[in-house]
Amino acid sequence: MLNWAGNVTFAAARVHRPSTLDELRHTLAGAAKVRVLGSAHSFNRLADTTGDLVSLAGLPPAVDIDTAASTVRVSGGLRYGEVAEALHAAGYALPNLASLPHISIAGAVATGTHGSGVRNGNLATSVRAIELVTAAGDVIGLDRSDPRFPGSVVALGALGAVTALTLDLVPTFQVRQDVYTGLPFDAPITEVLADGYSVSLFTDFAFSGPAAPRFTQVWRKALPDDPGPAEFFGARPATGRKHPIEGVDPAACTEQGGVPGAWHERLPHFRLAFTPSSGDELQTEYFVPLADGPAALAALAPLAARIAPLLLVSEIRTVAADDLWLSPASGRATMAFHFTWRPLTEQVTALLPAIEAALSPFGVRAHWGKLFTLATDVVRSGYPHMSEFVALAHHLDPAGKFRNDFMETYLTD
Ligand SMILES: Cc1cc2nc3c(=O)[nH]c(=O)nc-3n(C[C@H](O)[C@H](O)[C@H](O)COP(=O)(O)OP(=O)(O)OC[C@H]3O[C@@H](n4cnc5c(N)ncnc54)[C@H](O)[C@@H]3O)c2cc1C
Repeated sequence: MLNWAGNVTFAAARVHRPSTLDELRHTLAGAAKVRVLGSAHSFNRLADTTGDLVSLAGLPPAVDIDTAASTVRVSGGLRYGEVAEALHAAGYALPNLASLPHISIAGAVATGTHGSGVRNGNLATSVRAIELVTAAGDVIGLDRSDPRFPGSVVALGALGAVTALTLDLVPTFQVRQDVYTGLPFDAPITEVLADGYSVSLFTDFAFSGPAAPRFTQVWRKALPDDPGPAEFFGARPATGRKHPIEGVDPAACTEQGGVPGAWHERLPHFRLAFTPSSGDELQTEYFVPLADGPAALAALAPLAARIAPLLLVSEIRTVAADDLWLSPASGRATMAFHFTWRPLTEQVTALLPAIEAALSPFGVRAHWGKLFTLATDVVRSGYPHMSEFVALAHHLDPAGKFRNDFMETYLTD
């Protein structure tokens, strides 16, 4: 069994797809080593186990909207794209989405998956309560009133199987998406990224001149009454629809050209019915404090000649600060540097230490679900609440059933 990218062959001895909560409880209680799998979109061995791998996709789907509280309780195995349709039909929305709607809600939340927007937290920040089945097979609920809650949302599957999440809702809203090209590389990127509801910068790290790489595109998602200027920090509206990877057919992409549409049909870059991104790729993403973003980009620029040959596209985004212990945006407004690589595992893995060294002065954190080579102590020291998280995981899973090689490497006392 492979992950979405095909670069991870799961080592699990057995794969389970329970169809009832009792079946799930029984499976977890009886397992010696176990991990829960979402939609398998992560690029590393975070979700892997040598024991039992459990998918929750067969549990009864629930999308229960509480209109009085403006919340929805959803099953963890559902994908964002499936839930978004139902929310919109009922007049509701989530504040933000990732670049693709194909990922499971529990899996995305577990890794701190995010979209863009200086005022938008990652997807986990919409979580108001979670229900999980522990290693012992017990069902527990945690909400924002529980002191353990900040450690239980971005939890990397270490605490149990998340069967349901309650998410905050906002009234449904319309978004327009405009793509610009020709943004100068010395543009004030912090200002550019803050100008709109959700802005992404794309670069292929190819040189536009002797000194600097180029930005290929800017994707500006804004409310319909905020059309954006005809010239955006020196960039011009794209002529025709664009895929973030130059030259790729844009059919898989959500509508552009400023045409207003529902939030879930504009905030993701890719449509649910199509393969997102390239499909044949690896991914890496690093996070630095927002204020350090321009300096971090300047530190990456000298590596352009090594990055470009391995790269399909790089995306720069922002994430609002939160208080979730293992969130990559924990405690700090964040700028995110994402890399979609050609599927060249060896070459990419060999290059990552140079990128990580360039970003190390900025307190770099890595996306939990993507490729990275940061040393254990660098990962650990990036999260002030790491020891509390490890203690919480030990409390809920004293035998370490959910501990796999990834956990043993990065989540240690
Ligand atoms: C094409 C593509 C585009 C992407 N775009 C973005 C993006 O825009 N922004 C971003 O931040 N990331 C992005 N990612 C990364 C992706 O969002 C994360 O890897 C995310 O974790 C994938 O969710 P999943 O359901 O596939 O989780 P999986 O990879 O299946 O699992 C991830 C982790 O979640 C745990 N988990 C899953 N389900 C449960 C559950 N029910 N209970 C407990 N633990 C669980 C697993 O044990 C594992 O630790 C992208 C990935 C791909 C392939």
